Amino acid sequence: MREMTEFLGREYEEMEKQGLTWVIKSLNGPSQPHVEVEGKKCIMLASNNYLNLANHPKLREAAIKAIEKYGAGAGSDWSIAGTMDIHMELYKKIAEFKGTEDAVTFQTGFAANAGLIPQLAGKGDLLISDELNHGSIIDGVRLSKAERAVYPHSDMGALEKVLEEANKKDYRRVIILTDGVFSMDGDIAKMDEIHKLAEEYRAMIYVDDAHGEGVLGDGHGIGRHFDLEKEIHFQIGTFSKAFGSFGGMLAGSSDLIKFAYNKSRTWLLSAAFPPHVAAANIAALEVVEKEKDRVKRLWDNTKYFKKEIESLGYDTGNSQTPIVPTIVGDSKKAKQLAEKLYEEGIFALAIVYPMVARDKARIRNQMNADFNREDLDTILNVYEKLGKELKIV
Ligand SMILES: *Cc1c(COP(=O)(O)O)cnc(C)c1O
Repeated sequence: MREMTEFLGREYEEMEKQGLTWVIKSLNGPSQPHVEVEGKKCIMLASNNYLNLANHPKLREAAIKAIEKYGAGAGSDWSIAGTMDIHMELYKKIAEFKGTEDAVTFQTGFAANAGLIPQLAGKGDLLISDELNHGSIIDGVRLSKAERAVYPHSDMGALEKVLEEANKKDYRRVIILTDGVFSMDGDIAKMDEIHKLAEEYRAMIYVDDAHGEGVLGDGHGIGRHFDLEKEIHFQIGTFSKAFGSFGGMLAGSSDLIKFAYNKSRTWLLSAAFPPHVAAANIAALEVVEKEKDRVKRLWDNTKYFKKEIESLGYDTGNSQTPIVPTIVGDSKKAKQLAEKLYEEGIFALAIVYPMVARDKARIRNQMNADFNREDLDTILNVYEKLGKELKIV
């Protein structure tokens, strides 16, 4: 018999049985190193707000001023009547910041990938994607009519084989797509090697630097980190992570930007983000440029935490960035650890299958520029205690 809505409850129950449902805990105030979560004071270890800009006075002030001048909404799609001068100012600012000819924003990083990738490649083209790429890249690739190949995570030998095979066929375009920083392990894409291969095999490079901006290359991202700002053809990013605000971005040549906003359906058919978001984003880039110490503090904290948590016996995998996972193996154990951390006043997220392999469940710890030593030592002491209690270390 044809199904009606019973499948909703049934599928939810199945997910619940497997421990795969999200249990949302809400914050009672701003996202910052010390937060209140459901009435409980916690150290925030699960946010992407690496530089602690989400509640920075300069961003708040810029947003409030913009609301006073422009109102609360943009009033239309970007393409029709929703683009305000403050959005244009932001595009210029991003291009400067990224060292590219031009830039444009999207509602989110997700919308940038979903809207742009299907336009860059179609029939007769090949998209080559790292197996651990973010879901929005995966969805963008799925929306394209191009052929696709997936290579094992950061395996440059495997990538070269795909490129070699590709050169035996007559593809019109070949694009390699990768995250800049991988969000579950915190490792950095081997952009220098990808760049060499791309040159050798005549492929283009598409990087989504969501977790790399504000973090790598003095905050300017993976392009600056590898000194390849002008060589990466398509640079996607977001203001929702280290920049503490909201909205996706694309930086690259002026041809790319004109192409993008005439072709991307998520840009053409969806509203511009509100003007105060543009204002906060401009302020975020200014703060990163002015307060250079922020990125440095983030890295100092990262190095200290990584060294100390490893010396307690925790496995941090391939972490090279402020994403420092503690891999505990079993999903149930990871969830149990997250619960106990919360009881101890530390808000951290358990990442389990299918986001990572079944035997690689973990807590994803994310560092913050504004943690002080006392915060970090509090976290480490709790980890030491719980590690013994749960027989992890
Ligand atoms: C977080 C993330 C996104 C999503 O960015 P939003 O602006 O929040 O939609 C896209 N790509 C990657 C690689 C990410 O890590």
